Amino acid sequence: MDELVREHIIEHHPMKEVTSFQIGGPVDYFIEPRTEAELRQVIAAVQRENMPWMVMGKGTNMVVSDKGMGGAVIRLEKYFSDVKVDGTRVIAQSGASLRKVAEAACAASLEGLEFAHGIPGAVGGAMTMNAGAYGGEMKDVVESVKVMHHDGTTEVIPGDEMDFRYRNSRVYDEKLVVLEATFALKPGDEAAIRSRMDELWRRRLSKQPLEYPSAGSTFKRPEGYFAGQLIDQAGLRGLKHGGAQVSEKHCGFVINTGGATCKDVVELIRTVQEAVYEKHGVELETEVKVLGETE
Ligand SMILES: Cc1cc2nc3c(=O)[nH]c(=O)nc-3n(C[C@H](O)[C@H](O)[C@H](O)COP(=O)(O)OP(=O)(O)OC[C@H]3O[C@@H](n4cnc5c(N)ncnc54)[C@H](O)[C@@H]3O)c2cc1C
Repeated sequence: MDELVREHIIEHHPMKEVTSFQIGGPVDYFIEPRTEAELRQVIAAVQRENMPWMVMGKGTNMVVSDKGMGGAVIRLEKYFSDVKVDGTRVIAQSGASLRKVAEAACAASLEGLEFAHGIPGAVGGAMTMNAGAYGGEMKDVVESVKVMHHDGTTEVIPGDEMDFRYRNSRVYDEKLVVLEATFALKPGDEAAIRSRMDELWRRRLSKQPLEYPSAGSTFKRPEGYFAGQLIDQAGLRGLKHGGAQVSEKHCGFVINTGGATCKDVVELIRTVQEAVYEKHGVELETEVKVLGETE
């Protein structure tokens, strides 16, 4: 790889250090470009080398193989984190945390992003996943998304052309790189916005096992059901496999109780899927992205 790209590479970086699950072996190349121009250069370089690559944000929706990952992980969380307010719009770079974006909206008395305040990811991940909570989702508030294509060109895609759907979007389908999102919000009352964010945060704290490392809801919500309820009814609350456990507090979460491996998590996920299918005839699909070789 060329010199400029090399400068920003950490070789064999442990993914457990950059993911909320705290699981995962080393990635060959961990790269943090500082500018759009550097990002373009990095993407060109990894493609020239024909290596697999992916972009990550805060690593709150992934579990990485214990063997690690071949190729490159490009993280945008550190240097792409600016947030600006312009009238009733909030413009945020892909690495900005949803908390920071929601806080900026609140400080400008703009409503619409309260639901996102407690979601621990960054903007790029949220565009990929159409992140949502408590009745809100990115789809409702995104006016446009600036992306980079694999050839380094950029494009601003209107929100209604993003194909936002339940925990998915065009970003994932087309492997776009999210650079920035513009949120169109409504004027509101700062105190009321703050109070709604606080209320949702209290609900999160009381229902979710935030005291343990995890990647949030392990499974997508199957149509017409709640994954956590199906898992509970199948008698799996608290089920452990190595260091991984179906949370006692919220059965929809697999947590790392300490020293869990990716293998523990993947095997527990499989056990849960089989048991729920047997009991309810419902197939649970993972929301968490499982990365690297797991067999
Ligand atoms: C305790 C906890 C609670 C959670 N609660 C919720 C919730 O209420 N609602 C919800 O929807 N999610 C929730 N999540 C899951 C997670 O926070 C969201 O999916 C979030 O949107 C992921 O953002 P991230 O930056 O961490 O993405 P990452 O985990 O870093 O990446 C996730 C995916 O997005 C892609 N990606 C990331 N950045 C970019 C980019 N710039 N360009 C292109 N692709 C990119 C990655 O390649 C990967 O496929 C929770 C997670 C935890 C740990």
